[in-house]
Amino acid sequence: MIESPLLENLTGYISGRWTDNEHGNTYDVYNPAKGEVVAQVASMSEGEVNAAVDAAKSALRLTSPYSIATRRKWLEDIRDTLRNNKEEMGRILCMEHGKPLKEARGEVDYAASFFDYYSKHIQLLDSHTIPEKPKDCTWTIHYRPIGVVGLITPWNFPIAMIAKKLSAALAAGCPSVIKPASETPLTMIALFSLMDKHVDLSDGMVNLVMGKASVIGKVLCKNPDVPMLSFTGSTEVGRKLIVDTAEQVKKLSLELGGNAPFIVFDDADLDAAADNLIANKFRGGGQTCVCANRIFVHEEVADVFCEKLTGRVNTMTVGDGMNEDVDIGPLVNKQGFDKVKRHLQDALEKGASLMAGKLPDELGEGLFFPPTVVKGVSREMCCYQEETFGPLVPIVLFGTEEEVIEAGNDTEFGLASYVFTADAERARRVTAGLRFGHVGWNTGTGPTSEAPFGGMKSSGIGREGGIEGLLEFVEAQTVPRGF
Ligand code: ADP
Repeated sequence: MIESPLLENLTGYISGRWTDNEHGNTYDVYNPAKGEVVAQVASMSEGEVNAAVDAAKSALRLTSPYSIATRRKWLEDIRDTLRNNKEEMGRILCMEHGKPLKEARGEVDYAASFFDYYSKHIQLLDSHTIPEKPKDCTWTIHYRPIGVVGLITPWNFPIAMIAKKLSAALAAGCPSVIKPASETPLTMIALFSLMDKHVDLSDGMVNLVMGKASVIGKVLCKNPDVPMLSFTGSTEVGRKLIVDTAEQVKKLSLELGGNAPFIVFDDADLDAAADNLIANKFRGGGQTCVCANRIFVHEEVADVFCEKLTGRVNTMTVGDGMNEDVDIGPLVNKQGFDKVKRHLQDALEKGASLMAGKLPDELGEGLFFPPTVVKGVSREMCCYQEETFGPLVPIVLFGTEEEVIEAGNDTEFGLASYVFTADAERARRVTAGLRFGHVGWNTGTGPTSEAPFGGMKSSGIGREGGIEGLLEFVEAQTVPRGF
């Protein structure tokens, strides 16, 4: 069992207090590197989730809103406590998710950057008066908190995903009911423990609910006191939330699946492209929605690029993320492992060749999947059509610019994409043609706190980060000046 001063309570948190978990229902949390249960956390009832919504509702202040100074202080204090507890947060995160310690620590810093960014830009939510006088009136625009928000996060970034949502919600003055993924509740509990001890939040401003997704999802979708949900996860669940909230016309901010193209032209710096692909593709063991999923390489440079790539891949270490020298940890669960294996098997059966990694029947016990490269991938293969969410690199060859723009867009998804070319004009043309919310030019880096990030098409609705991420949580209200 995991021991930590940040995990003294393993229950929910409602109205400024840890719940007592009277009925005693719990579920197990695993360390994917060892396959062992590391904690048992409360599985909450529908009644408790509704109580969390009530608590949040009582913290909402419309007629005497929390001042900008108060909200800024909350954000600064959460930023500081995260930074001061980076080691312990990183350790907990590594233990329940499996990602290497160095990445886990980096994720805590990344999470803190969202609280930092919004603490510095919160004054953008100040009211302003517009210069024109439509309808013979001088109008002022107020940004009102949208109300109680349900924040639902996935397991692949146990602290960063909640940081994106919670920082913007608190900046806007929205109380929240927060549901972590069932695989990774401990990092969230640790965050609540830090907020409980070090941040002077009003009771009910942040509430933690854990347990069955169907029970919690039902309350958050049906309780009329929750006017907005911010969700990161699969397109499948995102669609369900759209349907289940349609009746009440709730506002939704959805960051869903991806199928990122990573395009390498023949004039690209192939060493830089290979380095960036390694950093992008194997982050979190390949289990991120911005990980390159289809690697399009110009046919003239494919052999050289593959050689550079496999040379690098063969030096990577797979193992328990708690060891400092490990590059890739275990996959988060058996279901994820089996999906990557199925994609590899399917690609090999349909004619792709294995350039690095192991054959499916050579994979050992446990959830450790070696970094794997397959060449000669085509559009009928599963790894081209679906998000693999694992350390499998499928190489697809292409000939022309037009062809690769069309192929890059040949997916229902539109989250992240990457283009490697020395020709800036070509980069501009390709970028404009790609229907993706994020396009990197000669870089494989993904979102930052300062810039809006989100998907086109089935990859979602709305943006996180940047000013746009803040505006998701407010309603613009137009009133005569002086009101
Ligand atoms: P992933 O497995 O990649 O995390 P999911 O979409 O399955 O993606 O899960 C993302 C988050 O959504 C998790 O917190 C999960 O528990 C939650 N979730 C799953 N089903 C529902 C649902 N019906 N209603 C609300 N949340 C859900």
